[in-house]
Amino acid sequence: MRQFDYKRATDAQGAIAAHAGQRAAYLAGGTTLIDLVKLDVMQPERLVDVNRLALSEIEDTEDGRLCIGATVRNTALAYDPRVKRDYTVLSEALLQGASRQLRNRATTAGNVMQRVRCSYFRDGISPCNKREPGTGCSAIEGHNREVFAVLGTSEHCIAVHPSDMCVAMAAIGATVAVEGPDGTREIAFSDFHKLPGDTPHIEHALAPDELITHVTLDAPIHGAGSTYVKLRDRSSYQFALASCAAIVALDGDRIREARLALGGVGTKPWRCHEAEAELAGVAADDTAALAAAARRAMEDATPYKHNAFKIPLARKAIVQAIKDAAARAGQGALA
Ligand SMILES: Cc1cc2nc3c(=O)[nH]c(=O)nc-3n(C[C@H](O)[C@H](O)[C@H](O)COP(=O)(O)OP(=O)(O)OC[C@H]3O[C@@H](n4cnc5c(N)ncnc54)[C@H](O)[C@@H]3O)c2cc1C
Repeated sequence: MRQFDYKRATDAQGAIAAHAGQRAAYLAGGTTLIDLVKLDVMQPERLVDVNRLALSEIEDTEDGRLCIGATVRNTALAYDPRVKRDYTVLSEALLQGASRQLRNRATTAGNVMQRVRCSYFRDGISPCNKREPGTGCSAIEGHNREVFAVLGTSEHCIAVHPSDMCVAMAAIGATVAVEGPDGTREIAFSDFHKLPGDTPHIEHALAPDELITHVTLDAPIHGAGSTYVKLRDRSSYQFALASCAAIVALDGDRIREARLALGGVGTKPWRCHEAEAELAGVAADDTAALAAAARRAMEDATPYKHNAFKIPLARKAIVQAIKDAAARAGQGALA
């Protein structure tokens, strides 16, 4: 059995100080971290409990954005009236993630920071460049169906980023506020998660000891409708095979602005800027044009032995999500 010590912090600087100088991990809901400690995949010498930090509020900002504290639980966020009304896509993505019990425990920052579900990463013994750099990627020639990507992969890692919440945030646009030993800074959500490239063990933009304090959502698009379509092997308690967060604003029957992000297929929450550009001015019921945009979104996809089916599946999720979001546009929902 491995020993670790436990510190409960009451403010951000106390947490950061307790984290510094050793192999430590911030402990939030524990739904990823404790699993990985038990599996011996993560081996912290110290857990710094951040649950008592004053970071559990959801607050409006003066410029019309929504600021979410790091320890806001996934359930609280999904059912917040402002999120349900102005960021429907986020509420739906959260409620399709994990299980009720897990959502009651899981936090906003923990969800952003959750680790991959690759079985070779989690078994603790297979070659895995993410867990042990330089050992190889067992998934590339192995079983690579459910939680393996077709976008943003490299010869060193093909694990999907598993979060549903982050896909919605990628579509909405957001900023991650962090605090470290040298002060505070902000990171654009789109820059937060890293592609595996040659360094799959570097998963995010946090510097050593930095703590996520808040995630602030961009202001909602006036008049837009939004939704999250998640396709999976069974309808609850399952990670996405392919998912799409869509936000659509209309001008009459035509799309004025669309925002799309994909889950289940990318090594990070995957924003589809080129496909979004193709949708501007398209009639919202023009299935052929929506399908063309979906093809565009997936044109750089690289299939592996067991997950090629994800490419047409993701295209279907995209078309469905755009149609559903467009149907909601102008019906009182903001995003
Ligand atoms: C069976 C199961 C099914 C699941 N299904 C889904 C699913 O369908 N969709 C989905 O999206 N997710 C799913 N999840 C993942 C779940 O959403 C995450 O485990 C959860 O969001 C992690 O949040 P947490 O607060 O428990 O994080 P923790 O486990 O406490 O921490 C996770 C990581 O974040 C770090 N961390 C925590 N807080 C901070 C902070 N403030 N600053 C910096 N680092 C921090 C920790 O050190 C750790 O590395 C599932 C999990 C399980 C166990």
